[in-house]
Amino acid sequence: MEAPRYTALGLYIDGRWVTAEERSGQPVYNPATDEELAILPLATADDLDAALDSASRGFMVWRRMTAHARSNILRRAANLLRERSETIAEVLTLEQGKIIAESRIEVMLSADILDWYAEEGMRAYGRVVPSRTPGIRFTVLQEPVGPVAAFTPWNVPAVTPARKIGGALAAGCSIIIKAAEETPGTCVELVKALHDAGLPPGVLNLVFGAPAEVSRHLISSPTIRKVSFTGSTAIGKELTKLAADGTKRVTMELGGHAPVIVFADCDVERTVQACVAAKFRNAGQVCISPTRFFVHDKIYAPFLRRFAALTGEIAVGNGLLPSSQMGPLANPRRTTAMHSFVEDARERDATIVTGGNAGAGAGNFFAPTVVGHLPDEARLMSEEPFGPIAGITSFRDFDEVVHRANALPYGLAGYAFTESLRRANDLSDVLEVGMLGINTFSVSTPETPFGGVKESGSGSEGGIEGLDSYLVKKLVVQA
Ligand code: NAD
Repeated sequence: MEAPRYTALGLYIDGRWVTAEERSGQPVYNPATDEELAILPLATADDLDAALDSASRGFMVWRRMTAHARSNILRRAANLLRERSETIAEVLTLEQGKIIAESRIEVMLSADILDWYAEEGMRAYGRVVPSRTPGIRFTVLQEPVGPVAAFTPWNVPAVTPARKIGGALAAGCSIIIKAAEETPGTCVELVKALHDAGLPPGVLNLVFGAPAEVSRHLISSPTIRKVSFTGSTAIGKELTKLAADGTKRVTMELGGHAPVIVFADCDVERTVQACVAAKFRNAGQVCISPTRFFVHDKIYAPFLRRFAALTGEIAVGNGLLPSSQMGPLANPRRTTAMHSFVEDARERDATIVTGGNAGAGAGNFFAPTVVGHLPDEARLMSEEPFGPIAGITSFRDFDEVVHRANALPYGLAGYAFTESLRRANDLSDVLEVGMLGINTFSVSTPETPFGGVKESGSGSEGGIEGLDSYLVKKLVVQA
């Protein structure tokens, strides 16, 4: 087998690739081996100004193109992603660590997202409102909000940029994206596909740098009219404050701590299998990952036993090996965090049923871990774990479990397993989440809204809501 190749990294400004030259750089590591993959060039203040100028000019060109012409370019890019999916999936696994099968799915989903926005951009209809006065016509136009600054993290490095780029471009906006410095290659590949699809210069710009400096520089520029961020709640709050200074629109997709409520009437075996598969996808580094398992008292013991048994069977290894079922964590900060969750659980007399330890040797490996008999005050039950660790506790009645599920400031995803239609309906009404999966963990598709409530964010990406977040309304009154 030919060794997989990483990609040539660069900044993309005004339709051209900018490489290291005089710029400082930052190494990118393979989290499975600790080997250096490449040096990433970091943007200077002049580069950021050039990106802003370019986005400003790009917006003037792009907004005047027809929705059809924009749609064709997005669709061509989606097809290029599909043609190149194997290469891009390898780049993704090399820099992020997730298993190659998950990387392939992620690249294909990114192509589907661009396709979906290519279609939906052609349906950004305005409306004509009947007036109260004869001879007056009210027309509501939908227009692109303007150049966008977007910031994406390292856990889902293809789909998250695809959502922001797809939504912005379909609406007629230009965009400057700062992808995560730890996983830059996947976004570079995404940008290459859009470049090769014929995107005019300036419409899309890609930069990397010191995150706080880049976000301050871009968000404080009058050129930027909208900010979209995916990442932690703490950083989301900071960027929202920066955006408020210029009354700029924001979409914030922040942290979550998804409750999974398992009622005694569910099919236990099917539910456990679904829970384990969802929990350890991308080694738990997913904002909608199931994290707080509330299992009814009557089935708690067999559920915990079976959950731990299946978890213990997960083959952990380099994501490029077809035998691996879970890869390493994306960076050493996550392994440190996992240790501290386990230590806190031990101090509270919880049971580490399986796992709890890091892998020996190179890479950021951590064993898939199950912790039982946890008090709600344990850090694992109150702070977003963002790693391969499942906290499992029990409950007795509906109101009690709803209260506990809603007790945190987070409100991104939630899940429940029950055969009762009445209970499913009741849960839909009372759980404080942006996305609720009942008897399923699949709550993210290109055509449905993806976003949280409470401190998990504001606004939605995906679905018609995703497109709408890049559009402003203009009323034209004609006498
Ligand atoms: P972090 O909060 O510093 O960084 C998260 C992401 O935000 C990174 O990609 C980083 O480059 C970016 N970032 C950080 N400061 C920024 C700034 N001032 N301006 C713009 N972008 C900035 O820390 P981390 O160690 O990478 O992650 C810590 C926690 O963040 C995780 O435990 C998890 O809870 C959360 N997180 C959430 C998501 C998500 O999908 N919602 C993704 C990644 C991380």
